[in-house]
Amino acid sequence: MNVKVNLYPCAHCERTGTCSRAANGAACAACVKNNNLKGSGHVGLPCGICGGLGHAEPKTERINKRMQPILAILTLYFLMAAVLISAAVESQYFTEILAFASPLVGVVLAFYFTARGSPRP
Ligand SMILES: [Zn+2]
Ligand SMILES: [Zn+2]
Repeated sequence: MNVKVNLYPCAHCERTGTCSRAANGAACAACVKNNNLKGSGHVGLPCGICGGLGHAEPKTERINKRMQPILAILTLYFLMAAVLISAAVESQYFTEILAFASPLVGVVLAFYFTARGSPRP
């Protein structure tokens, strides 16, 4: 049941898993293309939006799941680079940058390892 929390009923095929959007219950052009077929009038093709499951995973959620660790690592690199560069050029703001960056690095690291440690559906 846990897996279904992230899924929503596919509006395209009305949860049947089969596309019948075109005339006479045939699959629509987009789904014909998704099934690597050409032409029209194909009946009973699996829905190209949900892959024939009748339920689809929200795309934004899928992207978020992948983006979060990437963003965390990028932020980490950016902060570390800022600290290293300011140290290299002996910036007068070095202490400020360090004071600003170190708690952020801690938060990002904590977030990253918490996200990785949590069970995935
Ligand atoms: Zn569908
Ligand atoms: Zn379709």
